[in-house]
Order: sequence, then structure tokens, then C-alpha cells
Amino acid sequence: MALLVQKFGGTSVADPDRIREVADWVARRRKAGDQIVLVVSAMGKETDELLRLADAVSGTRPGREMDMLITAGERKAAALVCMALHDVGVEADSFTGSQAGFITDTTHMNAKIVEIKPDRVLAALEAGRTPVLGGSQGVSVDKDVTFLGRGGSDTTAVAIAHAIGADACELYTDVSGVYTTDPRVVSEARKMNSISFDELLEMTATGCPKPAMRSVEFARSHGVTLHIRSAFTWEQGTWVSEEEPSMEDAIISAVTHDTSEAKVTVNNLPDNPGIAAKLFRNLADADVNVDMIVQNVSAYGQTDISFTVPKEELESASKVCEDCSTAMGGDGVSADSEIARVSVVGAGMKSNPGVAATMFETLAAAGINIEMISTSAIRISCVVRESEAERAVQEIHQAFELHAPA
Ligand code: ADP
Ligand code: ASP
Ligand code: MG
Repeated sequence: MALLVQKFGGTSVADPDRIREVADWVARRRKAGDQIVLVVSAMGKETDELLRLADAVSGTRPGREMDMLITAGERKAAALVCMALHDVGVEADSFTGSQAGFITDTTHMNAKIVEIKPDRVLAALEAGRTPVLGGSQGVSVDKDVTFLGRGGSDTTAVAIAHAIGADACELYTDVSGVYTTDPRVVSEARKMNSISFDELLEMTATGCPKPAMRSVEFARSHGVTLHIRSAFTWEQGTWVSEEEPSMEDAIISAVTHDTSEAKVTVNNLPDNPGIAAKLFRNLADADVNVDMIVQNVSAYGQTDISFTVPKEELESASKVCEDCSTAMGGDGVSADSEIARVSVVGAGMKSNPGVAATMFETLAAAGINIEMISTSAIRISCVVRESEAERAVQEIHQAFELHAPA
């Protein structure tokens, strides 16, 4: 008998049939003796619909009201899942974020958890009932409803798993686990049976949408065992653990790609101490999230600095850079939103030379130009043209033979 948290994503509870299937699955697991806490996302694309609705109604969209609106999607799903559970003989109670004891800060649309008081959830379990939590929500220290942000239900699940000392946190989605690359881009992509937290974090930071990065960070720092699996086939998925890879493990585990960023280049800045410091301080003060940064070798006392930012922040980043360039005597700014970042991730690259060479040779053979490069101990990323990203992923996946079992 285990104490499990099971989180169901939007596609897993998209319609009445899906909700009944989830209820049947939970009923079977309850019969087998497991204690279960459920966390649900809003049905299907409801969160997107609610955001569209707010856009259509209001130009101001006050944060407090946005959070009240968006979290309604998860509450609706939780109540419906509870009803379906009652129909199959499982006594269940739905809980809002506030009722489940999620206390957050006051940042609307992206609140951070400050404390969890899971008393009601524990009391329900104690009484033999199945708690069903609306995901991605809490109540702020000022007593307002808060939304934990896009993908926040994964964080709800991991956080409640930690708070109640669950044996594992199961994240159910529409694929059967974490794949060697996006299965929509490479049909031979392979499901991994296990992956380390470090590798999964690098994957989620470079474009893998599942699970949400924040939830993986939380799980790693609190030692919550994650199991990413399918709500359609119910087969075993991908286990995430702290374990070091064994000798036989592949050098590379996965290829990811991310088309959500844009590139900014500040041309011909004077190559003096303090120039980069001033530029990036001004960007930070303007709340721009800078990612990859490359500074060229200087020529004639001048240098170019390029960096990437989320596409939504390109305009504000460009503006800050224009101002800096003018103030510092630079030679203007160029902005480019048609880039993609393609990355290879694998703990095995720490002890195996040649991964970068193979990646670059593969892109060269495919005639794909590399515009920027960045690395971590277990990741190599290249910026390429956005139009060539999927081909780059396919070629690299093939070159490292990721379709073949490790
Ligand atoms: P949910 O709706 O369950 O919260 P998402 O739709 O956000 O989940 O993410 C699941 C999708 O992520 C899958 O359908 C899959 O196409 C895509 N995906 C991209 N890269 C990967 C990967 N490496 N492994 C698994 N899924 C991936
Ligand atoms: N439904 C929200 C979203 O799509 C939050 C979540 O369920 O993770 O982002
Ligand atoms: Mg989805």
C-alpha cells in the first residue's frame, strides 16, 4: 500500500469520458489499497479560453481578478472529477488551493508558495476519503486567491506530495513519459524508463514542456520521487531519481528545442571594464530575463555582445540596448526573433569527449549554420534559424542513435 499524489493534465480530463476514465483508474488503485491525493488541471484548453475571454473583456486585466478567473478552470475540473469518483464508489472531496492550505506570496498570475498547511487534506485521507485538489492555486498572505502560473498544477502536485510525505508523485499526461526528443518532431523518439533530476532540469530549461521546470526544481530540492506517465495507456512511464547514470548508460539522453526566444546583438561596444556590467544591469532593472550570452573577441578595441531573451521581452530588451548603445558610443542594435535553440542533454558527456564535435559536424553536414553556442556540464546548445530547428533535432537524434535502446 502506497501514499500517492496523482496529477492529471488538461488533456487527461478534457471531456466527460476522460474524467470517467480517470475516476475508474483511481477506483482501481484505491481497491488495490493505495491512498491517493489527486491534483487536476483545467479541462483541455480551458485556461487558454479564459485568458482569451479576459482579453476580449478588458484592457487592464487586474491581476487579482485574473487569478480569480483562471483558477476557476481547475476548481471546475476538481468538482467534476469528484462527482465521477462518487459514481464509482470512491468517497472524494474537492479542495481549492486555499482549502488545501497553499499559502502564497502576493504576485498575481505567477505566485510562489510560501507555506503549505495540509491539515484538511490529511484529515480527508485519515477519514478514508480521496482529496481532489484544484491545481496551480493558493491563497496569498493578503487572503486573495492566487494562480501559480502556467503549468503550475505540476508544482501543486509536487508540493503536496512533499507536504504529506507521499511515496511518489505521478504526473499523468498525453504521452507515456519523457522521450528522447519531442515525439511530434521525431516519430522514432523513445520513452526513457528513467532519467536523473539534473538531466530533466536541463531538458525543461531548454524546451521540453513536461513537467513544468519549477516542479522539477521543487522535486529535486525536496527529494520527491517523480513518475511521468500516460493517462491514456496507463503503462509505466519515466521515473526521475537522483541516481548517477551507470557505466552502460548512453552519453546523450535527449535532444530538445525551444523556439520561444529571440536574439539581440549590440554592435561595436567599446571593450572596456564595466560595459557588460552596465548593459546587463539596465536589462535586469527593466525585468528582462536574459539567457545565453556571447561576447565576441574584441577587434580594434571594440566588441559585439549577443544574448537571447523570451520573445515577449524582445521589444523592451531592444529599447534598453538602444539606449545603452547610444550612451556608450556603440554602433546600434539588431534584433532577431526567428531563432531556435537546439540542445543535447546527457550526464554521460562529462566523461566522454567529442559530443560537441559530433553535434557540430552533424549540423554542418546538414548545412545548418550555428549562430551561438553555450554549454553546461551536461548540455550543449546551439542557436540556429527557427525554420531549421526541427531538421536539426531530427539529424542530431539520428547521429547519437537515440532511437536505439540505451
Ligand atoms: P499536459 O497537457 O498534460 O499538462 P503538455 O501538453 O504541456 O502536457 O505537454 C505534453 C506534450 O509535450 C506531449 O504531448 C509531447 O508532444 C510534448 N513533448 C515535447 N518534448 C517532449 C519530450 N522530450 N518528452 C515527452 N513529451 C514531450
Ligand atoms: N491549467 C493551467 C495551465 O494550463 C495550469 C496547470 O494546470 O498547470 O497552465
Ligand atoms: Mg497538453
